[in-house]
Amino acid sequence: MTTIQRIWRIKNTLLRLLSTRCLDCGFVAYPPKASCPKCGSRRLIKEELPKIGEVLSYTVINVPLRGFEEFTPLIICLIKLGEAKVLAELVDVKPGNVHIGMKVMATLRRSAKTLDGVIPYVVKFRPLSLGSS
Ligand SMILES: [Zn+2]
Repeated sequence: MTTIQRIWRIKNTLLRLLSTRCLDCGFVAYPPKASCPKCGSRRLIKEELPKIGEVLSYTVINVPLRGFEEFTPLIICLIKLGEAKVLAELVDVKPGNVHIGMKVMATLRRSAKTLDGVIPYVVKFRPLSLGSS
C-alpha cells in the first residue's frame, strides 16, 4: 500500500497531466490515448498539460454512489486546460460558489477506498484563489 510519505515524494510525478496531441488533426486528448479519438490517427505525441485551467461547465451530484458518501455533494467540472478539455472533480469549494470561468488548479487528493482496502490518490481540482501548494 502506498503511504502518505511515499505519495508526497512522488507527488510531482503523479500530478503530471500527460495528454496526447494528434499530429494529423491537432486534437489534444486527456488522459493519453493510443489513437486519436477524433480522426483515428496513431501519429501522436505526449504533451504535459498546464496545471491551471478554467471551469467551462459543471454539475453537482447530491446522491452519492456507494462508497462515495463522504465526497457528497460531488462537483464534477469540465475544465479547459490549455487546448484540452478535462472532466474532473472540484474540491475545497461549496457548490454555490462554483461559477463558469472560475480559475482552478490541479491537486492530488484521496479518493474512495477500493474493495481491497487501498486508498488511491487521484488528480482533482481546487479553486486557484486559495493560494498555491
Ligand atoms: Zn486526430
